[in-house]
Amino acid sequence: MDLTPALVGALPKVALHDHLDGGLRAQTVLELSRELGLEVPGTATGDEAQPPDAQSVADWFHTAADSGSLPAYLSTFERTVALMQTAPQLRRIAREFVEDMVADGVVYAETRWAPHQHTGGGLSLDEAVQAVQDGLDEGVAAAEAAGKRIVVGQLLCYLRHLDPTDDLVEIAIARRDSGVVGLDLAGPEEGFPASWFRAQFEAARAAGVRVTIHAGEADGPSSIADALDCGAERLGHGVRLIEDITGGDVESAALGTVAERVHRAQICLEVCPSSNLQTGIATELADHPVDRLHRHGFALALSSDNRLMSRTSTSREMLRVAQTFDWTLADLEHVVLTGLENGFAPAALREALRDEVVLPAFRAVRGAEPDA
Ligand SMILES: [Zn+2]
Repeated sequence: MDLTPALVGALPKVALHDHLDGGLRAQTVLELSRELGLEVPGTATGDEAQPPDAQSVADWFHTAADSGSLPAYLSTFERTVALMQTAPQLRRIAREFVEDMVADGVVYAETRWAPHQHTGGGLSLDEAVQAVQDGLDEGVAAAEAAGKRIVVGQLLCYLRHLDPTDDLVEIAIARRDSGVVGLDLAGPEEGFPASWFRAQFEAARAAGVRVTIHAGEADGPSSIADALDCGAERLGHGVRLIEDITGGDVESAALGTVAERVHRAQICLEVCPSSNLQTGIATELADHPVDRLHRHGFALALSSDNRLMSRTSTSREMLRVAQTFDWTLADLEHVVLTGLENGFAPAALREALRDEVVLPAFRAVRGAEPDA
């Protein structure tokens, strides 16, 4: 079957790894920058002859993020985070997140963001979380009114380079039945071990709050082991696990201790190929470990990480991987179901989506195939 953009775009998809501050619409960046009197990204100062438009904003983010290093990539977020400091701003961006997910065919999405970075306008952490929740709820209600089904949850991110405070875990526990589905750890990986946050993640797990941790992106297998020791149930990226696997093909491969541990527990890797190319995991998608990890039987889901910086979408990530590695519809279905199975929203919601939306949709596409 030909996996065309139209076909993949229409498939029901899962987005486990999508940063709220990395997915702003270029048009929203333009409008909010103007409202706040901030320089519009992509504008040469004083260049009145060339009024900025959404396209030049989009180009600026993609180029700035394309420099090949994680620190440079992360610096583009200063521009988006500055536009997300009040309740109306957060609500709007969260609502647009849901609208964009629905438009991309995503039926289950988790958005992640770091509330500590969004209190500059005077919001408390909890008020900021409520503003995002309001936007997500509005987006979901609008989708339902339009006959579209989507389940959305928030992941609250601790940042590796900030102090391990208890405030976020307390908010996550208080809101675990009202939209916050888990905690994450983001930020510079090398030199900032997850274990500094072990007490917070243990408290979260003990209270039934789920945990994912960015690891195995800017650092190798030892960082992944550190994340697992802190209770990570999924890994943000995790792709440098490949450094713990020797031998090329599946039959002759030997898994090291960390790879074996991830494989045995089927810890889900949240793989975001385009983002990884921008931060230097590989230079070409053909050299990215996603296909090897998939063939080795690791649990993995595909996401876009930062749609604005990588000028991508969940559909595009799936399509690019499928085209590069000759994946079939069955491979994509496996990845979508793996993502859904490893989502942090209540199991009943995810199982209903699987049985009523995802499986029937893939069945219908298979049924439409002439040779089926
Ligand atoms: Zn990320």
